[in-house]
Amino acid sequence: MVEAKLSWITEEIQALEESGLMINLRVIDSPPGAWMTVDGNEVLNLCTNNYLGLAGDPRLKQAAQAAVEAYGVGPTAVRSIAGTLSLHIELEKTVAAFKGVEDALYVQAGFVANQAAIPPLVGREDVIFSDQLNHASIIDGARLSRAKIVVYAHTDAADLEAKVKEFLPQYRRGLIVTDGVFSMDGDIAPLDEIYAVAEAYGLMTMVDDAHGEGVLGKGGRGIVDHFGLHGKFDVEIGTFSKAFGVVGGVVAGKKLIVDYLRQKARPFLFSNAVTAADTAACLAAVKVLSESTDLVDRLWENTETFKSGMQALGFDVGQSATPITPVMLGDVKLAKTFSRRLFDEGVFAMALGFPTVPKGEARIRVMVSAALSNDDLTFGLEKFARIGKELNVIS
Ligand SMILES: *Cc1c(COP(=O)(O)O)cnc(C)c1O
Repeated sequence: MVEAKLSWITEEIQALEESGLMINLRVIDSPPGAWMTVDGNEVLNLCTNNYLGLAGDPRLKQAAQAAVEAYGVGPTAVRSIAGTLSLHIELEKTVAAFKGVEDALYVQAGFVANQAAIPPLVGREDVIFSDQLNHASIIDGARLSRAKIVVYAHTDAADLEAKVKEFLPQYRRGLIVTDGVFSMDGDIAPLDEIYAVAEAYGLMTMVDDAHGEGVLGKGGRGIVDHFGLHGKFDVEIGTFSKAFGVVGGVVAGKKLIVDYLRQKARPFLFSNAVTAADTAACLAAVKVLSESTDLVDRLWENTETFKSGMQALGFDVGQSATPITPVMLGDVKLAKTFSRRLFDEGVFAMALGFPTVPKGEARIRVMVSAALSNDDLTFGLEKFARIGKELNVIS
């Protein structure tokens, strides 16, 4: 019997089930890679953010193992008290050099990085201009700051400028914040146009490059490098949990700001430091990318092969400019059936529907990876062709 005071939760869960929005966890039982054991089935992985295959890379594993021997498993303090390891500092310097910024602050996750960076920069008297499709962690970081949040139309610099003209005069200072790569469609923010607006009106700028690092720019140096805007964006948020294959977040950018965040960022001051093993693995990942563009090149080759293969089959793969490949299906039930049938056939690719994407724009989202061999890509395309015909999506 559910206690009366908690019966509302049972109702909420029922509502989730009835609307098809209930999240059911798939359980992984294998190393990360092109093929994984998911709920007991060996399937081709088109689902994770392991863009470069680094999550299972021997160089990262060795670095993590050596760090456990050298430092133990947990720092047992926050960074600002006794939790800062020399590894943390080395990672911050190395990632700053890789991204071509003055300084960087390593925090527990990309999600946390937005909470670390936004509230110290703006408060009640200030205004944040935020892209309509920004990631949940940007939205939460913005809310935590208590600043006024003004949402502008997705990737629309003209609408941004109109909103800045209207709202900025009522506030002390302003911050523009945008995702670099939008993870549902794989489209990218027009950073050059956004920077022009910021310059014209004296606004601070922040870009969250979670899906751009290791993917865009020279050798995966990210979206700022892609646009050639080095030194122009004040803050770049990043994550080590996607292309870098590990875990952790980073706030990179101008030294003045990063130094200030070391004094003010609450996740840095009040939550434990990242473990030595994770930090060492992140460091190894950045070094791998600093030394060679091979993995990033392979990622883009695979992206081209997969996207052109899907288009040749007659699928609509949207407007992505990155390895994120949305296979547009429209109806959410169709997308879910498609995903389930793919899984039966040995392909793991997730269906996304409302509210993650707009109503009527349900899709399968394929995450292409450098870990996929040519045979893997062929296998995936064959299965998409088979299920596409079976469900009358293609002819
Ligand atoms: C994935 C993602 C994050 C969260 O990163 P974690 O390291 O997994 O917490 C933050 N911002 C954006 C834009 C993301 O895509």
